[in-house]
Amino acid sequence: MAKGVLVDLTKCIGCRGCQISCKGWNEMSAQKTVMAGDLTNPPRLNAHCYTHIRFQEDEKEGGPVWSFVKDQCFHCKNPACASACPVGALKKTEKGPVTYTFERCIGCRYCMLACPFYIPKYEWEKVVPWIRKCTFCSERIAADLVPACIKTCPTGTMIFGELDDMLKEGRDRITANPGKYVDHIYGEKEAGGTSWMYLSAVPFEWLGFNTRIPAKELPDLTWAYIAKIPAVIGVVLVAGAATWAITRRNQNMDKEE
Ligand code: SF4
Ligand code: SF4
Ligand code: SF4
Repeated sequence: MAKGVLVDLTKCIGCRGCQISCKGWNEMSAQKTVMAGDLTNPPRLNAHCYTHIRFQEDEKEGGPVWSFVKDQCFHCKNPACASACPVGALKKTEKGPVTYTFERCIGCRYCMLACPFYIPKYEWEKVVPWIRKCTFCSERIAADLVPACIKTCPTGTMIFGELDDMLKEGRDRITANPGKYVDHIYGEKEAGGTSWMYLSAVPFEWLGFNTRIPAKELPDLTWAYIAKIPAVIGVVLVAGAATWAITRRNQNMDKEE
């Protein structure tokens, strides 16, 4: 059965334990970063940070409202990134995670263009760069473990379980707490539905969520768009494959030396 996550943003205290445990589990190195003038650090998701806590300040009924937003891949039910990938490097798995096989990747970056949530990041600084994004801890889920970020969270902001149960829990919380949440589970319908879903006390557009995503699966739209530029695809594929072959050859030569 497919797994899902319900993220209740009203419970998040911005401790960033999830951010740190994700880096630890995925063996990502620490990076120099900057404070952007608020409590967000690093400033945005990047290739060294699969999940990220964003501080957001808004106003409601004349008073300030502070929110912390956890960003990561939504693991769409029918992901546009996987559909746009010409070599099958990204795949939706039965248990929910959208996984990435770097050995297949040719660096064309179509997934970055296709994702309506702007999630995949590229290792621009590397000689042999790969795409990076949250893995939904697929290897932990396969071993019946909870994703690292969820395991760490001290407030129960995220709950993990069967996708349908998570959706039902989201609806139940909205019904049982009139006025506490906006009447919208973000991810229930966006892009045809996602495995990570959100509850919030303030409208999702205030929190920087893309609220213009249609409530239907996007792969068909993605390919309708990409099909209009076949020549570009060809050039990018050939260039990507050539770059990949050259860098692999260089690596092998380095090893032999
Ligand atoms: S959020 Fe973006 S990167 Fe993640 S599965 Fe959906 S389309 Fe792919
Ligand atoms: S599910 Fe795993 S990879 Fe994704 S944000 Fe959580 S800890 Fe990181
Ligand atoms: S660990 Fe939980 S409370 Fe702390 S920032 Fe992450 S989601 Fe929020």
